[in-house]
Amino acid sequence: VGIDREKIKWNGWGWAAHRHPIAGREDVWNWLAQQLGMPSLLATPARPLDSITLPVSRLSPGLFAEFGQLLGPERVRDGTHERAFHARGKSYQDLLRLRAGDFSAIPDVVLYPRESNEVTAILSIAERNGIAIVPFGGGTSVVGGVTAHAENFANLATIDLSGLDRIFEIDVPGHSVHVEAGIYGQVLEKALAAKGLTLGHFPQSFEFSTLGGWIAHRGAGQQSSRYGRPKDWLLRARMATPRGMLESEPFSSSATGPRLTDLMLGSEGALGIITDATIAVRSLPKQSMWRAWFFRDFPSGLTAIRRAQQDEIAVSMLRLSDPQETQFYRALSEAGKSGHVGSRVAKTYLTARGIDEQACVLIACFEGSNRRVATDAAAFQTLARSLGALSLGSRPAERWRAERFQAPYLRDPMLDRGVGVETLETAAAWPQLENLYRSVRTALETAMRETAPYPAARGIVLCHVSHAYPEGASLYFTCIFPRNLDAEVAQWQAIKRSATDAIAANRGALSHHHGIGEDHLPWLAQEKGALGLDVLQAIKRTLDPKGILNPGKLIPR
Ligand SMILES: Cc1cc2nc3c(=O)[nH]c(=O)nc-3n(C[C@H](O)[C@H](O)[C@H](O)COP(=O)(O)OP(=O)(O)OC[C@H]3O[C@@H](n4cnc5c(N)ncnc54)[C@H](O)[C@@H]3O)c2cc1C
Repeated sequence: VGIDREKIKWNGWGWAAHRHPIAGREDVWNWLAQQLGMPSLLATPARPLDSITLPVSRLSPGLFAEFGQLLGPERVRDGTHERAFHARGKSYQDLLRLRAGDFSAIPDVVLYPRESNEVTAILSIAERNGIAIVPFGGGTSVVGGVTAHAENFANLATIDLSGLDRIFEIDVPGHSVHVEAGIYGQVLEKALAAKGLTLGHFPQSFEFSTLGGWIAHRGAGQQSSRYGRPKDWLLRARMATPRGMLESEPFSSSATGPRLTDLMLGSEGALGIITDATIAVRSLPKQSMWRAWFFRDFPSGLTAIRRAQQDEIAVSMLRLSDPQETQFYRALSEAGKSGHVGSRVAKTYLTARGIDEQACVLIACFEGSNRRVATDAAAFQTLARSLGALSLGSRPAERWRAERFQAPYLRDPMLDRGVGVETLETAAAWPQLENLYRSVRTALETAMRETAPYPAARGIVLCHVSHAYPEGASLYFTCIFPRNLDAEVAQWQAIKRSATDAIAANRGALSHHHGIGEDHLPWLAQEKGALGLDVLQAIKRTLDPKGILNPGKLIPR
């Protein structure tokens, strides 16, 4: 197993010993309280695990023994930390429940297969005995994808796939890798880098998510403009189902009708368990150049991204913050420095250059050969200048890159102080994008106001575009708000419902890269249509006739 699970938080983000980026910065905390209209921050710590009594495992001794015989007793686990760690994923509602000691969802047992035939054997036992199965990669789902509860099943086993982590073959000249699906992203990238290769899939959850999770929920890494998404780099895979092993076609580019591999992409553990995959990788780039610009406003920044995509300027990443996100992070970095001479000079200079509160920061990355990078960066600079943008050089962009996996560490300390934080995302075609942006922002602001714990409480909405295509782009929203401690799960559900209704009403994608899980299921029919849902249900019935795989996720019964 690539990561010692005992050292990562069961009810929060990342390494338990990690010091979060604003630890000890009371000036920053006071600034945040002021922004949120909170008279003071609160003390709302999580309940420690040793103060909570977990529900007793309902698995019979006979089934424990049967799994033990198959895997060996040390790979059939029902310890307190094991079951708590596998109870839920990492959404805001998951964390609220875990922190409160609500174990209404919890596996009876956690199984650790190390071979694909062990996975198939577990599924046979589960099907025969009516045991629901939750496939678990890194457990970083934010849509309820690994929640350990299943109506109509007496028992639930979570299959932790982190033991399926072997790299079978790195084919350097063929630029492909055959690897097991439970491998952690960081372990895979390290092995590839040693051979001068990269997959280039860097979701913000990179350190704690797995290859199988990336494929199973159709994720997107921050540099998807260059490295693509699982649909682009997944060549072949094998997926264990209660009906046996489903295998991809031998060559990815064949004209033999609909691709079976496509059934595995986005299957979210509801159609089968991906055991191993062959993925396309690339050479490590000779050069990576990171640059930042200030655009005068959101529309001109969007135009730059659209034109870069359509004019085929090869970027590795373009990430545009809206004015509120730009202001928020500027103010956050300035908190405690008011009156600082450097800050005042910078502000005066920017105002003189037309950069005011409508300004938007754009971070770009260009990668490839030295010549290619120089050409593309110059082409983007020309485009940006023609739209009135101001170059900020490399420093802010390099800083963003260095800290890009740090932001999730801020959520737990905020939760400890009565502040709620959650993100949601969507995508749409360019003609709909601005309308979608405004509607979702308004829906979030209104819902946060309506569910506020007291009249002075204010919610903050931040947004950025982080993935773009010639035909459209994604929008990623962050909400920060004072928690309503009397009804905090209901508070978030109301906010989320209102944003998702706005997404559906404005023809946005129900999800661009987080997936469906349990949380988006009520809206799925609107996106897929009745016939589309029938098709998905028929596939599910064929591969998983008794519905044991991740019940209640992805595909409605
Ligand atoms: C702080 C944070 C930042 C994030 N940033 C991003 C981001 O930038 N881009 C992005 O795409 N996502 C992001 N996510 C969402 C999440 O990390 C991704 O969904 C991640 O790829 C899931 O991988 P995992 O290994 O943790 O999968 P899990 O959470 O364990 O599982 C996700 C889903 O896939 C299923 N599954 C897992 N492994 C398998 C398998 N081998 N076979 C079949 N089904 C399987 C599970 O049952 C579940 O339905 C973020 C999440 C967090 C908490």
